[in-house]
Amino acid sequence: MKHLHGVSAAPGVVRGAWVRIDPSPAPAGGTIDPEAIGAEIARLAAASTAAAADLGTIAGRVREDGHPDEAAIFDAQAAIARDPALATMASERIEQSHEDAIRAVRAAAEAFAAQLRSLDDELLAARAADVVDVGGRIARRLAGRPESTAGLDRPSIVVADDLAPSVTATLPRDRLLGIALEGSSPTAHAAILARAYGIPAVVGVADLLTALGDPSNGGGSAPSELAIDGASGDVYLDPDSATRDRFDAGADAGRRRHESDVIEAALPAVTLDGTEVALLANIGTPDESEAAIALGAEGVGLFRTEFLFLERTGPPSENEQVAAYDRVVRAFAPHPVTIRLLDVGGDKPIPYLPIGEEANPFLGVRALRLAYGQPDLFVTQLRACYRAAAAGHLKVMAPMVADAGDVDLLLALAEHARGDLAAAGQPVGTIALGVMLEIPAAILVADSYAPRLAFASLGTNDLMQYTMAVDRGNARLDRYRDALHPALLRLVKQAVDVSARGGLELSVCGEMAGDPAAALALVGLGLRELSMASSSLPAVRRAIRGVRLSTLAAEASAALDDPSARSIRARFEPLVAVDVPA
Ligand code: PEP
Ligand code: MG
Repeated sequence: MKHLHGVSAAPGVVRGAWVRIDPSPAPAGGTIDPEAIGAEIARLAAASTAAAADLGTIAGRVREDGHPDEAAIFDAQAAIARDPALATMASERIEQSHEDAIRAVRAAAEAFAAQLRSLDDELLAARAADVVDVGGRIARRLAGRPESTAGLDRPSIVVADDLAPSVTATLPRDRLLGIALEGSSPTAHAAILARAYGIPAVVGVADLLTALGDPSNGGGSAPSELAIDGASGDVYLDPDSATRDRFDAGADAGRRRHESDVIEAALPAVTLDGTEVALLANIGTPDESEAAIALGAEGVGLFRTEFLFLERTGPPSENEQVAAYDRVVRAFAPHPVTIRLLDVGGDKPIPYLPIGEEANPFLGVRALRLAYGQPDLFVTQLRACYRAAAAGHLKVMAPMVADAGDVDLLLALAEHARGDLAAAGQPVGTIALGVMLEIPAAILVADSYAPRLAFASLGTNDLMQYTMAVDRGNARLDRYRDALHPALLRLVKQAVDVSARGGLELSVCGEMAGDPAAALALVGLGLRELSMASSSLPAVRRAIRGVRLSTLAAEASAALDDPSARSIRARFEPLVAVDVPA
């Protein structure tokens, strides 16, 4: 048995066969004799039609699985495959340069994409990546190359360096046991989709592909089975019988736990001495609402809207955004839904929003900082928020706020959006405006802007990254990454105090809130609203129901003087009730 370690991406344990998926590159193609021109053009037409049909089928499957937003990506690509402009450009190359259909369609797609990129129109430029993708799909069809997911013919754990969202979304769900990636990060699309689908996933598993061996050399000593723990990040190759037993017991316990979680979801998260804590969910797409509500989420504390903007050729229109926000607001009514304005840049680049090469993207033009150069993007999003607010309780917060100047920007953008709508006579709902506290500076100077806002939410993932100088995706820096580090705890305490003075409602939406021991520390420090991945809600609820606030407050106060995360963890871990499901 070999043991590797990665980063948790989607919880759950699973063991079984594995299959390595390598997205097959589109073939290069060649040239033809002049007399074959007619036949080659006919072949191209047939392959384009077939590729469009494939994409339509994928869109249908993804939609049936309850993911309409992801399905729209494939509908758009099917339309490109049917677009006569691409076929005409490719046919001309076959006729004039005697390229075969494969080479012609790939070259035509590249040329078409280059034209789109040069048009000084963000929306059209953004279609370029899709056009190239579709050209490759038609080329693979022409070459009779199997789709990259063909190896998944029995229930298996999928292994890859990285998985494109289009591949992840098309993996047959009835055969997809889990995902283990050598690269990627928990905020990458593969991880987001795995969480949305409830499939255990581990990312950033160093040396995974080498350890598994090259599938093309016969596999020789390749392990026959993998076991992955999506919560701890552990990956075992050829697990021994004790590990297999442990995973089987874990999977059984997981199933029983989910049943009891749903039953317990109706119980309030109230301490033994009567203090209630609101537990809300973090979501990335409207599709995640149902599962969050089933687990008792009392609203959405963080809607990471950037996932509506990724994997597309251009930003969603205002109407599309209204539809998405409205769906979530209605699903959770009367509870609040907190929309986080676009947080791209950092590890979430968007091809159609060129930010430019940056040496340190996490310290670059990320999130709200983009609004200084591209305010329209944010005004459109805020207009959609004001319109969706007419349907229920909606809050909006800006990511990556550093100081009062950024708050000025947020308020100006919001006023611009609201004013335009009102002037046009459109119904405008009421929105509470707030900020994420995820840059230490924003906490240090919160007095300077707090009275102008309604709320703030601690983004402990970035707060840890920027406080500890630890790249949040770097698995080698785990030693610094415990959210119970005293530096983080002191910043949280400072945020609690400054919020109380400035009349700001304060919550936590970073991963810290979903860690039961850390959640207890946060409650002890004074937090009364925690937002987390919905899968974390049951354990945090149980932990809160098993303790007295007076104990938590005393431990939290003492923890502020502790020297290490380990000593703070030693205070709170024993307070987490051992929750073995019946
Ligand atoms: C955070 O930084 O803690 C946060 C909640 O936002 P994200 O993880 O999306 O950066
Ligand atoms: Mg953040």
